[in-house]
This record gives sequence, C-alpha cells and structure tokens, in this order.
Amino acid sequence: VDFENASFKDFENPEGMDIYQRSDLFNEYLDFLQDRGHLNYRLESLTGCGPVVEMDIPGYGGRRPYVSLVSNDYLGFSQHPLVKKAAVYGINNFGTGAGASPAIGGHYSFHQELENAIASFFKRDSAIIYTTGYTANSASLLSMLQVQDLAILDIGVHTSVREGCSATNTKIFLHNNLNMLERILRENKDKYRTKMVVIDGVYSQDGDLAPLDQILQLTKHYGAYLMLDDAHGTGVIGETGRGVIETHDLFEQVDIISGTFSKTFAHVGGYVIASAELVRFLKFQSRQHLFSATSTPACMAITKAIQLIDQEPEWMDLLWENINYFTTGLRSLGLDIGTTASAIIPVKIGNSAVTGEVSKMLLKAGVYANPIIYPAVPKKHSRIRMSLMATHTRPQLDAVLNAFEHISNKLGLTKT
Ligand code: PMP
Repeated sequence: VDFENASFKDFENPEGMDIYQRSDLFNEYLDFLQDRGHLNYRLESLTGCGPVVEMDIPGYGGRRPYVSLVSNDYLGFSQHPLVKKAAVYGINNFGTGAGASPAIGGHYSFHQELENAIASFFKRDSAIIYTTGYTANSASLLSMLQVQDLAILDIGVHTSVREGCSATNTKIFLHNNLNMLERILRENKDKYRTKMVVIDGVYSQDGDLAPLDQILQLTKHYGAYLMLDDAHGTGVIGETGRGVIETHDLFEQVDIISGTFSKTFAHVGGYVIASAELVRFLKFQSRQHLFSATSTPACMAITKAIQLIDQEPEWMDLLWENINYFTTGLRSLGLDIGTTASAIIPVKIGNSAVTGEVSKMLLKAGVYANPIIYPAVPKKHSRIRMSLMATHTRPQLDAVLNAFEHISNKLGLTKT
C-alpha cells in the first residue's frame, strides 16, 4: 500500500481481510509513520497535566521538559490545590470506587451534588452525568434517536455525536453553513418523528464558534430540537465561562446541553442537561448510564472546579491574555491559524507528511503539540493543533513562537 496516498478504506478497513490481516496492515502503516518520526501520538508523559511536561522520547536525548500544548485543562484546574483537595476528600470519605451502576446502588450524595451543580451552572434544573463526555453524547443520542427520527449534524461535530446517531437517519450540513442547514430543515419539515440538530459550541479542530442564535432560530422555525455540545467552550467562552450559550444568553432555549468534565473541569466524565422529564427518561433508558458503574468519589473535584470558575475568574483572564498574545504572535509569523476564537489554536499546514515533520521539529525544540492528520481531518487539512492554558507563562509561549519561526523559515509554512 502506498501509505502516503492511501485512503482510510485502503489501510484501515480493506475488503476481504480478517481482523488479524487488517491489524497487520494497520501496523505497517503505524511503522511507516514511526520510521519517519511522525508517530507523535501516545507519547508518555512522566509528569502531570500542565503547561510543561517531562518526557523521555527515544532518540530525543533523554528525559527533558517540553512546553506542552496538548491539554484541554484550559484553566489549569487539574493542578489547583482546592480541586486536588476535593478529590482527596472524596476518596478519604467515600473510598475509591462507586461499586455499582447508578440505578442499582452506585448513586451517591456526591453524584447528586454534581448533577445539581452542573445543572445550575447552566441555569437549569436537571442533569444526568455519564462516565465520559463521549458517552454523554453517544449514549444520550442513541436512546433519543431511532429509525423513525432524523439527526442533522454540522460536519465538524465530535465523533461521539456521530456514533450516537448510528441508529437513526443522519444528514450533514457543511460547517456553520446556515443555508444548507435551512435547506435540510425545510425539505424534511413534515417528515420524521423527532428531528434533532446537533452542533458544537466551539469546534474541536478549528477552535471557531457556532452561530448559536441563528441556528436556534432556524431549528425552532422548522420544528426541530437543538442539542449543543460545548466541551471546548465551557470555562473559556462567555463573560463567566458558560460557553457560547452565555454569549447569546440562550440558557433556557437550547433544548439539550451536553459537555465534558475532562477539560476545564479537570477530571473525567460528561453531562447532559435537559428538561426534568427527558433527563429522567435518560436515567432509565440510556444503557451506558444504566448498566455501567458511575464516576468514582474523586469526582468531587469537579464540583469544586465548577465553583472555582465563579470564585476565581482571574484564571479565565489569564487564559485570554495568553490566547491573545499567542494568536497575535503566530499571525505575525504569517502562519495560517484560521478562524479560531477560543483556546484551541491550529496551525494549518495541509500536507500530512509536512505536518508530521513539523511535529518532529517542534519536539526537537522542546515543544509538544499534536499533529492532526487524515482521517481525523480531511486529507489536505492536516495541521498542528494546540490548546492553551491559563498557566502557560510568557517565556513558554515565546519559546513556542521562536520554534515556529525557525521551522517556518526552514520549511516555508507561511500563507502565500
Ligand atoms: N465533545 C467534544 C467536542 C470533544 O472534543 C470531546 C473530547 N475531545 C468530547 C465531546 C468527549 O469528551 P471526553 O473526553 O470527556 O470523553
């Protein structure tokens, strides 16, 4: 297989191969990337989540610190003493595991407090928590939408949303394309039982925002429901970090809000916020919630992180100072960072081999950033994807900008 030009089908799911043959072929592809020094995924960090991590990457000169741009812990709360203290309190008081799924013994006071805290953070009454953000989307959609229904998705939604729509009919509109969304809504106005538009607030690859107000208006006009996943907007966007829903003040109007506890909330888990009846339906219908153990007592960290967003707004200020400084710096180097308006900052490169090379050169320069290539993004849309934290310092960001300047001069990455 010519891996440089092969498609996903050629090497991940080729015709007529059993699972061991497919796995051998896929391993060949991974070796192809590794031999070039481009398999810069699953690198092992030896220190905790933060603006700098230490790693000992074979061939990179032993254990050393790297400026890290790979964490979605936007406000740095996973190292916040009060958040850590809350996790330890949870373990000391309740133990390490929840022991059962929520319907049959695994629902505790700290889960209830977390449900209440996340619902009221979004000025609503009812929430269900899941063990990951991924299942918050996939499991809730799987139980809400079936063969009689229609999901209408922005092409940029997270893969968990796609998976949640695997049992229903799905139509995709181009990213933030309101005309196309309206056409789909109009054409299907009198068809299907439930129609659900699903969008992200902040898109995870480009860091740009959804025009939530306009999408909500269209959705309501044509009798559909709206589900919003603002995994990357929470703690980052809006006056007090409630995400794009706050920018447009649509707390009550969006039918379903989903999100994750793995980013700003510095732990793991996810949530779905909806009407009391729909949340109750999900609590007894959503199989991944019903038949799977709940979050551990360490999730008391999340409830603390939710409070800290309001109690210590200075973290969001610091994050935005970093975002403004860093994006200005990258733009002044002539790099293409697209339309980002959040803490996710891509440097768009196009070619995947060049993207792999840039990631290697960044590592050599002590910078850890993710190369994103096909099939995560379309073939010509490869990029280095970075996310900023409130706790990055100016010297750290300057080191990254210097590395990009050097690499860009060598490889010619600037926009023409
Ligand atoms: N939604 C979006 C937009 C995401 O980017 C992610 C994770 N990267 C998820 C949901 C899933 O969240 P989790 O990591 O908590 O499973």
